[in-house]
Formats: sequence, structure tokens, C-alpha cells
Amino acid sequence: MTNRPDLPPEIARRRTFAIISHPDAGKTTLTEKFLLYGGAIQMAGQVRAKGEARRTRSDFMQMEKDRGISVSASAMSFDFEKYRFNLVDTPGHSDFSEDTYRTLTAVDAAVMVIDGAKGVESQTQKLFEVCRLRDLPILTFCNKMDRESRDTFDIIDEIQENLAIDVSPASWPIGVGREFIGCYDILRDKLELMDRADRNKVAESIQISGLDDPKLAEHVPVHLLEKFLEEIEMAKELLPKLDPEALLNGSMTPIWFGSAMNSFGVKELMDGLATYGPEPQVQSAQPRNIAPEEKNVTGFVFKVQANMDPKHRDRVAFVRLASGHFERGMKLTHVRSKKQMAITNPVLFLAADRELAEEAWAGDIIGIPNHGQLRIGDTLTEGEAIRVSGIPSFAPELLQTCRAGDPMKAKHLEKALMQFAEEGAAKVFKPTFGSGFIVGVVGALQFEVLASRIELEYGLPVRFEASQFTSARWVAGDQTAVDKFIAANKQHIATDNDGDTVYLTRLQWDIDRVGRDYPDVTLTATKEMM
Ligand code: GDP
Repeated sequence: MTNRPDLPPEIARRRTFAIISHPDAGKTTLTEKFLLYGGAIQMAGQVRAKGEARRTRSDFMQMEKDRGISVSASAMSFDFEKYRFNLVDTPGHSDFSEDTYRTLTAVDAAVMVIDGAKGVESQTQKLFEVCRLRDLPILTFCNKMDRESRDTFDIIDEIQENLAIDVSPASWPIGVGREFIGCYDILRDKLELMDRADRNKVAESIQISGLDDPKLAEHVPVHLLEKFLEEIEMAKELLPKLDPEALLNGSMTPIWFGSAMNSFGVKELMDGLATYGPEPQVQSAQPRNIAPEEKNVTGFVFKVQANMDPKHRDRVAFVRLASGHFERGMKLTHVRSKKQMAITNPVLFLAADRELAEEAWAGDIIGIPNHGQLRIGDTLTEGEAIRVSGIPSFAPELLQTCRAGDPMKAKHLEKALMQFAEEGAAKVFKPTFGSGFIVGVVGALQFEVLASRIELEYGLPVRFEASQFTSARWVAGDQTAVDKFIAANKQHIATDNDGDTVYLTRLQWDIDRVGRDYPDVTLTATKEMM
């Protein structure tokens, strides 16, 4: 089934999504089970044919081995029935960062995992709100039903209230905790029974002809059956039926109940994503939007992963293809620099493996090894000067000065900081006056992470110290006015890692004052990465 029958079949069968959840809800376990159903894990266990098969694997593997890059988990592609799933990983750290936001610009849907005992937790809520900004379709998986969990209606109510989204049960759990035996598949009138003995086994599925089918009583103990029938009757009365349109516009989420650890409910969720989930969507861009079925290839960089070895400048740009049919060796125009790039070593992240991408379609994620030309927000096209929009950079909320332990190593430090800035892990500001760099992050933990990465990857001990500034704003507006503003405020001016002008201050009052004194200058807290 497809919502866009006019799409080329190769594009229509693609489902590109991310999983959002609070730490510990079961994202990793669910991902593993996706791969299991996608046939990828099984493959990983098999010894690969020597020779030919090996040789076709990319140089990239070698690069990964030699230089210690590990990028495989960032995107995973696998087949499920006649669909191609592309799962894009959201960064795992609990500090919310724009990295997460940008990852979500590369997907068409999100699977929201919640813990059946805990409901909607803080990180889930934050990530959900980011999805909401783009009206992303969301499918919900309520996990850990094999353990004591909350009342089903409570869980649904909490999602509806906290997240302001309609919830439609796609399945209904039978029994709680130790007595949980499985779910009733509301969408297909099936009884799915969980096998507690074998965690990797696909659930036993029993076709039922409606809720009054006597077969139900054969499989469900009588005390559970009574409660279930009562609940499902109430659910049918009180809760909305699945409306595929509402799912696609982000106003309704279907919810499946299951246990990722027991491989239970996972296949139904995948079926749901295949059947109702969106195919590759129109990408907003300037001066015009990009439709996936356009013949010409376009793509944009949403993530850059630099390598761990400072001697090499290799990095991998993760590109979401927005349109067309890409073939290896194609020459694409890097719109920002107007230069052509021959894409000879694109990588496709097949779950268990990395392979050269001989071809890819709109919706797919490919990795392009490069030497730093490709930055987050860059667009690649077949020549047209078109730029993907909506990939913002946020003003950091925390600023600190960073100094090398050894003052002679300032150049090294600059290089290290620039690398992290390119990866999107931090903002780096070079003040017009004074020495040192000011580093901006969104969560406090990131300073520690940066310090240890710089030490580890560059052998460079560094200190982060309180900065005299607490806020950064990008400067835009009429050039003459901007020049005048810069000349009068040199103490506050810096350039960011892209060379753009930034105003640093410690007072909101200053920002307000600029607004009054320089009506032709705007200070902004976000910048479009273009
Ligand atoms: P993540 O932090 O969201 O990636 O969560 P993990 O997948 O690492 O799971 C967190 C913990 O919950 C691990 O100890 C898992 O074994 C456990 N877990 C995951 N799924 C289930 C489940 O369905 N039932 C139970 N009882 N435990 C689960």
C-alpha cells in the first residue's frame, strides 16, 4: 500500500525513520529486533563467502579499520517484506542537542518507545516536541509489557494529555506483568501470544473472527478474558479508530503494546510502519521544494562524523537523498561551493555490513567519505542551485573559554575544536580581541565530553574556564549597519566556525539595547545551515 501511488515503486517502498525514547526504555533492544526481523542479524552470524564478496566490500571498511572510525550505527538499512527500512539513529546522550534535531530532519517518521511502567518520560517529551515542529508521523511502541506495567487506559491517557496527540490502540494487551500473555491485534483481528521461553521466536498468531469468536476462550484464561473483553469494549467506545490521514499529518499516533526483549509486538509495529508509515516526503528547500520522484538527484548532509585520528582529515558525511535515483560514480554539484564532486565511494549502511552503494533512491541515507568539504546543511544536486532549508543551528546556551594546557599547542587546539564544530558537537567562537576560543554547547555535560575527546583523540590536555560571556547571537542585517555595529562593539564580536559574525554578551539587556540602538541589525538565536 502506498499513499502516493504515483511514486516510483523503489521510492514508495522506502520507510526512513528514527526511534525516539527516554534512556532505558528499550531503544537498543527494539533496534536489534528490527534487524532480526529484517534478516540482518542472521546474516551477520553467517560466515561470508571469501574472495569475491569480500572484495566488493568497500575501501571504507579498510578506512574504518585503519583509522578507528565507527559510523555504522548512525544509519541502518534493512529489508522487511517488500519494504526497505532506513533507521537513522538519534544520538544516545541524554543532553538534548541540535544533533538530535538535525537527525530528525532526515527522517519521515518516528517510532516513540515508552516503558509500560513509566509512561511518557522527560526525554521522550522533548524529542516528541521536536517531531511535532515538523508534524512528523509518530508510531508508538509501549515496551516491557512482560513486567508490571500501568493500566492500559492510564498509559493512553497520559500520552494524549502530555503530548496533545490522539492515540489509537493498534493492539490491546491481555493480562499484566507475569500474567501478560500477549495482545489482541485490533487492526487485523488476530490474537498474538507471547512465547516467554524463546525470546527470539516470532509470536504465535491466531486468526480470530471478531471478539465473539469462541477461539479466544481456547487460548485466553477465563479471568483474563473477562477483563480483556470489558476493556476492549470500553476502548472501542472511548478511543478513536486509526485514521491513516491523521497519522500522516502527525495528529494521531497508533500504539502497539509489546516486549522488545521477548521479540513480542515488534513485527506488528513493523507492519504498521510499512502499511501506514509515510514514504519519502517532499523536502523543503529554497527557492523551491524537492519532490522525491524528481528524476534528478538531490541530497543534503544532516550529520558529519569525523574520524578519530588527527593525522587524517577523513570524515563521513551522512546524506539523506531527497529525490531521484543515485548511482555510484555520479558527479554531483556541491551547491555551497558550486564545485562538482564525483561520488565514487558512497557507503550504504546495511545493518550488519557496510557496502559500497552502487545505487540508492530518494529516502535512503548514504555515507560520503570526504576531506572536510561536506558540512552539515550542505546540499548536493545535479547542477541546480537549490538549497535544502530547515536545518537550523541553535545559539548555544552555555559558553566557556577553552585553552590548551600547553600554550604552544594553540594551533592544534584550533584544529581539534574545528573538527568538533563540523561534527555539530559544539560551536566555536574566535573573539576579535583576546586569545583563546569560546566554546558553546547546549548541555553542560558536553564540555566534559569535549575535554576528554580532545585529550584522547589529539593528545591535548585542555582546560575549560568560565567565560565572561553567557550568550551568543548571530548578527545579520543591512551591511552598512552591521559594519557600523561591529566597529562600535569590537569587544563583543567573534566569528563562528563557519566564519559568520557573532555578538557575545552576558546580559539580555545588551541584546535588547542592540535592538533599540541598531534597528537595521538583527541578532538571532538560530542560523540556517546553508
Ligand atoms: P535504551 O537505553 O532505550 O537503548 O534501552 P535498552 O534497549 O538498552 O534496554 C534497557 C534495559 O531494559 C535493558 O536491560 C534491557 O534488557 C531491558 N529491556 C528492554 N526491553 C525489555 C522488555 O521488553 N522487557 C523487559 N523486562 N526488559 C526489557
